[in-house]
Amino acid sequence: MSDRPYENVVIVGSGPAGYTAALYTARANLEPVVIEGFAWGGLLQQTTDVENYPGFPAGIMGPELMQQMRDQAERFGAQLVTDEATAVELAPDGGLHRVHVGDDVYSTRAVILAMGAQHRKLGIPGEEALVGRGVSYCATCDAAFYRDVPTAIVGGGDSAMEEAMFLAKFAAKVVIVHRRDEFRASKIMLERARSVPNIEWLTPYAVESFEPGDAGTLGRAWLRHTGDGSLRELELAGAFIAVGHEPQSQLVAGQVEVDDGGYVATEGRSTRTRVPGVFAAGDLVDHTYRQAVTAAGSGCQAALDAEWYLRDNPAPAPGAAAASV
Ligand SMILES: Cc1cc2nc3c(=O)[nH]c(=O)nc-3n(C[C@H](O)[C@H](O)[C@H](O)COP(=O)(O)OP(=O)(O)OC[C@H]3O[C@@H](n4cnc5c(N)ncnc54)[C@H](O)[C@@H]3O)c2cc1C
Repeated sequence: MSDRPYENVVIVGSGPAGYTAALYTARANLEPVVIEGFAWGGLLQQTTDVENYPGFPAGIMGPELMQQMRDQAERFGAQLVTDEATAVELAPDGGLHRVHVGDDVYSTRAVILAMGAQHRKLGIPGEEALVGRGVSYCATCDAAFYRDVPTAIVGGGDSAMEEAMFLAKFAAKVVIVHRRDEFRASKIMLERARSVPNIEWLTPYAVESFEPGDAGTLGRAWLRHTGDGSLRELELAGAFIAVGHEPQSQLVAGQVEVDDGGYVATEGRSTRTRVPGVFAAGDLVDHTYRQAVTAAGSGCQAALDAEWYLRDNPAPAPGAAAASV
C-alpha cells in the first residue's frame, strides 16, 4: 500500500481497458494504483495469436501483448497490486471512495472499473481442455484460424447468428446447434443467417461433450436430442460457444446502475457512471464490440474522463480521508 492519505485514482481490472487507463493516468502524473487481480492480463491471457490488434503486422501472442501493456503502464509509474479487489464502497455523491483488497483499504478520489466480462461456458466435459485447440468463445477473434474446416456455433441469439455469418466466410460449413427449435434471435438476423448457403441448422440439440481428434485438437461433439434423448456425433474442427456473457459487475452491485444484462451503465458516449468520480470501461460496459482494441480505447476514455473530473473537483482537505472512513 502507498502511504498517501488517499489516491487520485484506483483502477480495478487489468485487461486492455485497465492497463490503458493506467498508462494514460500514469502519464498524466496521477500515480494510479491498479488492482490487477491474481489472473492479471484479462481474457487475452487465454488465447494464442492475436492478429487484429493494430501495430503488430505479424500478430502477437495474447499473453505477450498483455505483458507489454503491463510493462508500459508500469514504466510511467502505475503501481500494480497483484491481488483481488474484495469490496468497493462508493461515495454516492462523490468525495472519497474506498476499494478494499483483503485487509488493505485504498481511499481514492476516482475509481475506474475495468473488470471485464466472462464468456458464459457450457460446463461440459472436454470444453475447458480444448479451449484454444478448437473450442472458442469469439468467432470475430478466431474465425480466420478455421478455414475450410467443419465448425459449429452453439447458441440461438443474435450474437450466435452474427458469429455464424462471420465464421461462414472462412469455414467449409457452420452448423448452428441450439437446444430449442425456436430461436431468441431477431427475425431479421435469422433470415440473414438462413440465406447463407454454408450454414446448417441442428435443433433441438444440446452439446453434451467435446472430444479431441487424432491431432489432440477438437475432433467431434456429442449432441443430445432434447426431445427424445437420442445421442449423435458431429465431426468438427471448431466449436464457437455463443451463449452469452457475464459482466463482472458483482463488486459494485447496487452502487452503480447496471442494465438487464449486468453491464455497467455509463452516460452517453462517456465512461462516467451516475456516481461522481466513478468511471467504467471495456467489456464491463460493452454489449456489442468486445474487442481488445475497443476495450483499450475505452480505457483511454476513462482515464481522460477521470483526469478531467480530478481537475474540476478540488482535492479534499488533509484529514478528509480519515473522516470518510
Ligand atoms: C479466447 C479469446 C480470444 C480473444 N481473441 C481476441 C482477439 O484476437 N482480438 C481481440 O481484439 N479480442 C479478442 N478477444 C476479446 C478480448 O480479449 C476482450 O474484448 C478484452 O480482453 C476485454 O478487455 P477488458 O479490459 O475489458 O477486460 P478483460 O480482458 O476481461 O480483463 C478484466 C480483468 O479484470 C480482472 N478483474 C475482475 N474482477 C477483479 C477484481 N475484483 N479485482 C481485481 N481484478 C479483477 C480480471 O481478472 C481480468 O484480468 C478474445 C477473447 C477470448 C476469450
